Amino acid sequence: MSETATATSTPTKPAAAKIHDTKYTRNQPYSSKVLVNDRLTGPESEKETIHIELALEEGMAYTPGDAVGILPTNRDAAVEAVLQVLGFSGTERVLDHYKVEISLEEALRTRLGIGKLARGSVTQLAKLCGENCPEGLKALLGQENKAQAEEYVWGREFIDLVKEFPGIVTEPQQLFNILQRLTPRMYSIASSQAAHSDQVHTTVRVVRYTAHGADRQGIASGHLGERAPVGAEMPIFLHENNAFRLPEDTSAPVIMIGPGTGIAPFRAFLEERQATGQKGENWLIFGEQRSVSDYLYKEQFLSMEKDGLLTKLSTAFSRDTHKKVYVQDRMQENAAEVYAWLERGAYFYVCGDASRMAKDVETALLDCIAKGCNGTLEHAAEYLACMKKNKRYQRDVY
Ligand SMILES: Cc1cc2nc3c(=O)[nH]c(=O)nc-3n(C[C@H](O)[C@H](O)[C@H](O)COP(=O)(O)OP(=O)(O)OC[C@H]3O[C@@H](n4cnc5c(N)ncnc54)[C@H](O)[C@@H]3O)c2cc1C
Repeated sequence: MSETATATSTPTKPAAAKIHDTKYTRNQPYSSKVLVNDRLTGPESEKETIHIELALEEGMAYTPGDAVGILPTNRDAAVEAVLQVLGFSGTERVLDHYKVEISLEEALRTRLGIGKLARGSVTQLAKLCGENCPEGLKALLGQENKAQAEEYVWGREFIDLVKEFPGIVTEPQQLFNILQRLTPRMYSIASSQAAHSDQVHTTVRVVRYTAHGADRQGIASGHLGERAPVGAEMPIFLHENNAFRLPEDTSAPVIMIGPGTGIAPFRAFLEERQATGQKGENWLIFGEQRSVSDYLYKEQFLSMEKDGLLTKLSTAFSRDTHKKVYVQDRMQENAAEVYAWLERGAYFYVCGDASRMAKDVETALLDCIAKGCNGTLEHAAEYLACMKKNKRYQRDVY
């Protein structure tokens, strides 16, 4: 491992963040206008991924690597269905989390999470019925029944619970004890302000699935996918993430691994480097299911490759070939080059799925390092630890 020194040498600091406007927060969001809401995936795709552009007020600033928080509302039909099952009209008055009086209908639309069912909601509902708890509900309580409860809540929503165990909720205010707060969802920013001064862009995968005989959708991604047309207002706030930054040394090379919506911050990085004339080399590895329908931002990336901004553009479309190919396979195929880039001081970034991809990419990275330096995996782990310490290995996974 002759050149490990590169990995251990004094790091170039990640780019300094802009001074962030703190006027708007999750509790006091900015009411932004939707400027663009376009589907990125083709009609044949199994996924529905959309590109959203939102307007910013003057003074609102972000840095590539940051996220935008979006406050969703529940669907009218879902609110109506819950009211109907509970036998409430919606005009009943309740106190919200800040003790402000609002209608039950507003509470269910904007304050309470009536989507995916939480285990805590099952427990809280049971508490309301005390001694007279139905057997089926009792069987989901306590540490000893945790696994059954986990299985029960998977794919279910609040409405399924109150349909199965009716008559327990008698007062609208009780819902504030049973249900979790409707929380904002984070989305990696997909744009650079150097290119779009008064806008913030995101790349959103609309979550849809069928479970327990009903079609479900994610609350925020469903809102953006179905009820956020151009001109609609969305409450948003900017969320700083100093742990995911382009190198401060604008000539440092970067390798970016961004399958699926993990591509978002790398579009931001590349737009930033393009708009500010940064000279560092850029290698993007993008992965999805099919090139014909799932190649997100294809034209833009091909044009960046043509212009020389993207030194290297690699893609892995898992369903295009008989043998499934993923981003980590592209890394393995290009192991010598990955290592050469690292030895030249490249920063290595990963964004996207935390459950499997991030682990598989790390394993592939260790392999590339071990092969490159003719060393053991132990040596590679040390090398990677140095990269981490020097902020040359950064992940934004969710
Ligand atoms: C820092 C950060 C950055 C992020 N960046 C992005 C981004 O750039 N783009 C993006 O699209 N997302 C991103 N996310 C994820 C995003 O915040 C949301 O979690 C995602 O959009 C889902 O939110 P939702 O409200 O639509 O779904 P929710 O209403 O929260 O529902 C999602 C839940 O539905 C359940 N579910 C999903 N599928 C199934 C199924 N098949 N069967 C049963 N249950 C299921 C699961 O419990 C899942 O947790 C990011 C998250 C973080 C933390």
